[in-house]
Amino acid sequence: MKVPDILSPNCDCSRGESMTVEHVLLNCPKWSTEREELIHPLRTTDIKKILTSKRGAKAAIRMIQRTKILDQFKRVVDQDIEQRPRDENREEGEEARTKEEE
Ligand SMILES: [Zn+2]
Repeated sequence: MKVPDILSPNCDCSRGESMTVEHVLLNCPKWSTEREELIHPLRTTDIKKILTSKRGAKAAIRMIQRTKILDQFKRVVDQDIEQRPRDENREEGEEARTKEEE
């Protein structure tokens, strides 16, 4: 499997921002499901507070791992993601959001 060497590409959401930690954790519309699950319980949107607290850092790492993993998967097994039954909730949400953003 070929994994491209990506430094800081623009996020492929409609905001056109760089795919930074802050963008993915706090702003990216693609990851609002993960954000609700991992970041909202921290009760802060201050990126410094999140990354400097133990709980926040753990949540941030989990979220980044998910986004990277999914991003790579998308390139390789695009159809497979659409067919994964356990993702049915997020698939619907993502599709709705994508349409809204365009
Ligand atoms: Zn984004």
